[in-house]
Amino acid sequence: MLLGPPGAGKGTQAQVIASHLSAPAISTGDIFRANVSGRTELGTKAKAYMDAGDLVPDEITVAMVKDRLAEPDAKAGFLLDGFPRTIAQAEQLRDSLAELGNGLDCVLELVVDEDELVRRLSSRRMLVDGEWVQRDDDKPETVRHRLHVYREQTAPLSGFYEGEGLLARIDAIGSVEEVTARALEALGRTPGSVPAPQDGE
Ligand code: ADP
Repeated sequence: MLLGPPGAGKGTQAQVIASHLSAPAISTGDIFRANVSGRTELGTKAKAYMDAGDLVPDEITVAMVKDRLAEPDAKAGFLLDGFPRTIAQAEQLRDSLAELGNGLDCVLELVVDEDELVRRLSSRRMLVDGEWVQRDDDKPETVRHRLHVYREQTAPLSGFYEGEGLLARIDAIGSVEEVTARALEALGRTPGSVPAPQDGE
């Protein structure tokens, strides 16, 4: 699982690391955004919270993640990005994984100072239908609120997972490749190494 504040680069690193691990990257933010653009019932429920920079309530988020983890591609392993984001979510995740005889192997925290986060988020643009657009929640006042929510509700997960012996912290300032190399090292993988074949393959 990847832990870190908005703008730390979790989404970018999740894609690269997941492909090294041959496991799906599961991003709650991406699932919510897909539901908002698809105008689904879940998207309608989540949109107001997201636009305000607040967390979507735990019961909505946890149910959504449980469904996603039950899909066949997550059977052999997965990389979580943006979940859990509260201690309550972390406890519910631990319980539902334990029911399956499973658990998290590692929590990788991406460490970036707040000045750098504000710089990255306010200049971030996404390509949508051939045009560069700013995410609604990347507006300066919403960015400040998201960082506040992170400090209050999500940062305590660092201590929670340290207590469980699962936490590895890496410096997430530098090029994408440099951060990936530190991440793979922390996960015990050399960059470029091929994941070990699974039994029966
Ligand atoms: P970032 O990490 O840049 O804030 P995300 O794409 O992870 O962006 O999340 C965007 C928004 O989606 C959050 O501000 C929040 O409203 C909602 N969200 C994503 N993951 C969760 C979660 N685990 N619990 C509650 N809300 C979430």
